[in-house]
Amino acid sequence: MGNVIKEPVGGNLRAIKNSLGVQDSLDRITGEASLQLSVIYGPPLAGKSSYINSHADRFNHLSLGRIVRERAGQQDHLGSVLRDSIENNVPLSSNILLNLALPVSRLRRAKENILDGYPKYAYEVPPLVERCDKNDIELHKLYVKQPSLKKLLQRLAMRRTCDPCYRPLIVGEDCDCGGTPIIRQEDTKEYFMGRYDRYMANAEQTISELTKYCVEVVDVTDN
Ligand SMILES: [Zn+2]
Repeated sequence: MGNVIKEPVGGNLRAIKNSLGVQDSLDRITGEASLQLSVIYGPPLAGKSSYINSHADRFNHLSLGRIVRERAGQQDHLGSVLRDSIENNVPLSSNILLNLALPVSRLRRAKENILDGYPKYAYEVPPLVERCDKNDIELHKLYVKQPSLKKLLQRLAMRRTCDPCYRPLIVGEDCDCGGTPIIRQEDTKEYFMGRYDRYMANAEQTISELTKYCVEVVDVTDN
């Protein structure tokens, strides 16, 4: 019954895949639409989460930052690797990040799945593409959100984090959990500028790499 709607979608996806030179699979030809995944890209504090949350009915938000922070609380080997990475600003391997952010069980067919926080670097794009191919996930849109540094620093000055639940807050805002808003190391200008400089050194190359695989690029800087 569902195939009536899925049939033309499958056809379009097939055309896109063919135009990219990707071999189609038999189940696609039967009209089963594959899962789609969009990516949102921009510097820290660009407002990517806010943009996604303001369209919560449309998006299934796959926030790598949130997933990593939550997982970092567990007292096992992976938890300590993640805590070390947060505290020392160290990039993690693509394999670890994709295992956290992109198990197929997190993806939804009824919503636009949107990956936030991966990739940050051009070298992280091929592992993403490979994982999508393997799991029959179609890379869909690339949303780019890049406010000026001035605007980012204004936001940084307002930024607080809940202690201990790690929820991002703004000055004067209290957390639902009853915790206290504090200035964490990640909220300091020094830590932020380290992340921002890394972003600027990699943004152009990463966007250009992602553009090769995404069907459409959407600039949401002013949204
Ligand atoms: Zn809290």
